[in-house]
Amino acid sequence: MTEIFTGSFTQQEPIPAEGIEAAMAVLHHGRLHRYNTDGNEVAEAALLEEEFAAQMGAKYCLACASGGYAMATALRACGVKPGDRVLSNAFTLAPVPGAIASVGATPVFVEVTADLTLDLDDLADKLDQARVLLLSHMRGHICDMDRLMAMCNAAGVTVIEDCAHTMGAKWNGTWSGRHGAMGCYSTQTYKHVNSGEGGLLVSDDPDLMARAVMLSGSYMLYGRHRAAPPPEAFADVRLETPNISGRMDNLRAAILRPQLHNLDAQARRWNDRYKVLEDGLADTAGLTLIPRPDHESYVASSFQFLLLDWSDAAITDVLSRCAARGVELKWFGADDPQAFTSKYDSWRYANPQPMPRTDRILKGVIDMRLPLTFNLEDCAMIARIIRAEVAAVWQAQAA
Ligand SMILES: *Cc1c(COP(=O)(O)O)cnc(C)c1O
Repeated sequence: MTEIFTGSFTQQEPIPAEGIEAAMAVLHHGRLHRYNTDGNEVAEAALLEEEFAAQMGAKYCLACASGGYAMATALRACGVKPGDRVLSNAFTLAPVPGAIASVGATPVFVEVTADLTLDLDDLADKLDQARVLLLSHMRGHICDMDRLMAMCNAAGVTVIEDCAHTMGAKWNGTWSGRHGAMGCYSTQTYKHVNSGEGGLLVSDDPDLMARAVMLSGSYMLYGRHRAAPPPEAFADVRLETPNISGRMDNLRAAILRPQLHNLDAQARRWNDRYKVLEDGLADTAGLTLIPRPDHESYVASSFQFLLLDWSDAAITDVLSRCAARGVELKWFGADDPQAFTSKYDSWRYANPQPMPRTDRILKGVIDMRLPLTFNLEDCAMIARIIRAEVAAVWQAQAA
């Protein structure tokens, strides 16, 4: 019997009951704007920032409109100006080069390795080309952060981390987002917590964070934050920094707080699912699993493998066979980017130069979403289907 998978790869879990209740309370009182507080009331947005800062061991946190906004704000706070160059990953998604373009800067792309992390040797060659690195922990794969930080510190390059896929993950015991000067997170529906849209920015640097708070549109109300730097940090910044509104509202913050309290438990559930897929696909001829280093504690909200050096025709054959059995796989090698996939050479505004090493990897990367609405048996079935279809095409190629 041919198994067909009938689950949805895009269906997230419902908002937890606690979040719905907190959201209803905000709707009932109507004070959705973060600075619209009654007497001594503390806004949900301010509580969210206080709690997330504590959770990440950060001094400061700012809640904002999106992950993309958090990255652009971090770039601005770090002094990136129009015409500057910013180092970033060639293998990432469109909001990352988009954040760089939004401040009038130009990305300098760094190659990806077969482990799907930033190629640190290529980075070493390019470190003298920019003073900021916007590092994307794409699909949750974390490079050797100890080596990366040592290199960037020595070169005087400021690191901003894009943790859209690593909220709750760690490298060598340190939370992702806490190695660089600023860490950016997304709370958009497909990430690790879901408020539809939203972003969080963390830092220990009072000057950078004072700038970020002013940029987000705090007028002179920054004193109402609970995870912002002290008033002295705002003394000059408050009159020098443009307002580029991108605040988070209390409704989203209310939905997020209980989800963040539950982040570790959700991470374990994701990783249980990942393990089932990884085990189910182990030792499949022609298929390369992505090694996970000992220093990396990941949150596996997605799954990748490589069909390295396969022909385009064979890969499209695998994808269509899996799709016919209900398994939706995304390919980063298609000439025209589809749905949420995107490729550096399609970001024409950035005038990308050819990157042969990255092209080879992108041609082979297969990507799958792993929503928590899948149970372990779903994951086992998905692995059986992929394994069978990869084997069928592999054998046909060999024949
Ligand atoms: C989703 C995402 C972001 C942030 O996205 P927003 O939709 O702006 O919240 C940043 N980087 C990567 C790699 C992403 O996938």
